[in-house]
Amino acid sequence: MLTQARNILQQYYGYPEFRPGQADIIDSLLRGRDTLAIMPTGAGKSLCFQIPALLFSGITVVISPLISLMKDQVDSLSSLGIAAAFINSSLSAGEVNERLYQVRQKRYKILYIAPERLASESFQKTLYSLPISLIAVDEAHCVSQWGHDFRPSYRMISSFISGLPNRPVVGAFTATATEQVKRDIVDLMELQSPALFFTGFDRPNLSFTVLKGENKQQFISRYIAQHPGQSGIIYAATRNEVENICDFLNKSGYHAGKYHAGLPDEERKRSQELFIHDDIRIMVATNAFGMGIDKPDVRYVIHYNMPKNMESYYQEAGRAGRDGDEAECVLLFGAQDPLLQKYLIEQSVEDQERKHAEFGKLQSMVDYCHTPECLRGYILKYFGDKPVGAECGHCGNCNSDMEMTNITIEAQKIFSCVLRVKERFGISLIADVLKGAKNKKVIQQRGDTLSVYGIMKEYSLQDIKDMINRLIATEYLYLTESQYPVVKMTGKGLTVLQHREEVWQKVPRQSREKIVEDALFTALRKLRKKLADQDKVPPYVVFADSTLREMSAKIPLDEAGLRAIKGVGETKLERYGQAFLQVIREYADEHGLPLQASSAIQPVAAIPKKEIPSHEITLQLYQRGCSLEEIAQERNLKVITVQDHLVRCSREGHVVNWDPLIPSQQEELVLKAIQQLGTDRLKPLKEALPDEIDYTTIKAVICKHCGQI
Ligand code: ADP
Ligand code: ZN
Repeated sequence: MLTQARNILQQYYGYPEFRPGQADIIDSLLRGRDTLAIMPTGAGKSLCFQIPALLFSGITVVISPLISLMKDQVDSLSSLGIAAAFINSSLSAGEVNERLYQVRQKRYKILYIAPERLASESFQKTLYSLPISLIAVDEAHCVSQWGHDFRPSYRMISSFISGLPNRPVVGAFTATATEQVKRDIVDLMELQSPALFFTGFDRPNLSFTVLKGENKQQFISRYIAQHPGQSGIIYAATRNEVENICDFLNKSGYHAGKYHAGLPDEERKRSQELFIHDDIRIMVATNAFGMGIDKPDVRYVIHYNMPKNMESYYQEAGRAGRDGDEAECVLLFGAQDPLLQKYLIEQSVEDQERKHAEFGKLQSMVDYCHTPECLRGYILKYFGDKPVGAECGHCGNCNSDMEMTNITIEAQKIFSCVLRVKERFGISLIADVLKGAKNKKVIQQRGDTLSVYGIMKEYSLQDIKDMINRLIATEYLYLTESQYPVVKMTGKGLTVLQHREEVWQKVPRQSREKIVEDALFTALRKLRKKLADQDKVPPYVVFADSTLREMSAKIPLDEAGLRAIKGVGETKLERYGQAFLQVIREYADEHGLPLQASSAIQPVAAIPKKEIPSHEITLQLYQRGCSLEEIAQERNLKVITVQDHLVRCSREGHVVNWDPLIPSQQEELVLKAIQQLGTDRLKPLKEALPDEIDYTTIKAVICKHCGQI
């Protein structure tokens, strides 16, 4: 049986091998044993019940709590050539009957249902008449009150199963593994001596970083500029914060969507759709966002605020990289974050015992932000899993993306100021004094008469504030919990002053290279979007990012080559193969790669050395100081083509100095227009600006400031 399962894996899904745990779980179900599988998000649970579903003679009923997920899952299955249907409250009675009729005709192997449907006796009866071989319960922790998403309707599952004329095999799947939840799943769903599989909590493709006291706005705009075209989620603690961040990003020329419980249903739904279909890449949201989305290619999750506990954090951060490709989880810790969470717990939890427990969990979250040890290790330990070793080499505390900087002198200046103002000033006013600002408040408070006045004038105000924030986040200073918080010294800060200890801080390396997406990958992604829109499915249903990346690395030129790429099964090959091959062939042609397809994949090393592409020759001339017109003349090109060459170089990661193309007074004007109109279309920008500002300048400003067109 397992051999057949492997064949299905290759033929339908296009994957050469099972991920850890999958084969054992499938085997257990195929042997007719009830099975409880605990696997972290993205580990590949769905396949564990879908493959048995294809092998069993009867049908498989999948109980899944999320209506939006159901449609995605069914779409994904049909794109693989597997007939599946769903029944939930979004369908009319007529549609439900039609689908049940089709199920009885054996048109479908897999039927997804929402647990609420089980409340209807007539629905249960209809199901009793079907030949059910397997019942798969997704998100099985919903049955437990101790899980984080209790759904009372999950309690009906056991009576539904016991009412069936022949008891089918039952598989329960979840990512939650606390003892209590595990016990509840087994007891309340009445699993019969189930086999238990636990694949561990580690998500090796995720990297974790905590940054303290960062200037958060600057960080996200820099981060997004460095990750163009990638999908990401930015989680913030409050609706207000979501609105502010979203405004800021849109004004900075990025197209960001928002999602929080204060928005009308329609708007939330639209935002979510746009994000899933890659029409917007950045989603700014409160924790209300995520339960319903299953987008596999989220490349980063940034927490703009610290969440209330590790459970929430790991769940939200875990929405990155479900497809198994590299993804980043960054938590921006601010000194105010614990205060806000404390306040929220105070407000929302009445029961003293639970409140106490919540505060304990909050403290573990704060500890995560401060631990100097491996962050992955911390997470695994927290969830009772074994650590991956002393250092994972893949988190902010283990890797080299962070550098230690000695800020002792700056810290001492800041501490002296805090003491001079008798610990009565807030962050802004302290920064003003250190900078030597002459505003009303400084004068009023006689800050300008202090010996520390202006001792950090060589720094920008923002830099000083950022430093103070970092010192608060690392507990050299603290903020009082009042309406106007003031900065005070901690014991740790005083020790630095008294014993002249050094202060070192981890900061992200400044010169991080922009991530370069290669040109073929971009072209394949464009094609994917077009096909997905035609078929009205999310782009990832067509192919995963990792599949496109493998295509762009291996450049397959015929069907055999394409079939050998992970994620290309027979149905997809038939449906999309030719379209993708055409784009790949065009690319190969343009780059002088041999078009005589061999039956095997072209290994990267076998690709002949390329000639220098035309756009890079343009860049070389430009870097030698030639004007665009000179280059156009020399190379017999149109000026606009020369411009496009430079834009393309920039997009591919070459450094292009745009300044020579931007007359000095025009930069500001263009930037203002960009803030109002965005960068999606150039024409409205041109029309909003004075005539003498030409397209070249506009493009150059966009490339210089926003990183891409
Ligand atoms: P989960 O439900 O556990 O969060 P999914 O079932 O949604 O995870 O799977 C996550 C992603 O991993 C999907 O894109 C899926 O196609 C992919 N995947 C699953 N199994 C494999 C495998 N054996 N090889 C490669 N990719 C896989
Ligand atoms: Zn680590």
